[in-house]
Amino acid sequence: MDEHCCELMTSQIVRHCDDHEDPFDCPDALVRFDAGSREYGLIIHDGGTSTIGIAFCPWCGNRLPASQRDH
Ligand SMILES: [Zn+2]
Ligand SMILES: [Zn+2]
Repeated sequence: MDEHCCELMTSQIVRHCDDHEDPFDCPDALVRFDAGSREYGLIIHDGGTSTIGIAFCPWCGNRLPASQRDH
């Protein structure tokens, strides 16, 4: 089970919208967590599947355990 920095982040990661199966289609979806690369991204709602990688949580300000690109 993945642990995130705070409840708000966790609720965003695990949230599921009944109206939009794909989070990229849901205007309420804010962040996406890639379990493979363990990277967090802000979803850009431009009709595609773009995200902006974030290194800090927008809610609690904690550094996110993402950018471990040395592996
Ligand atoms: Zn947080
Ligand atoms: Zn939705």
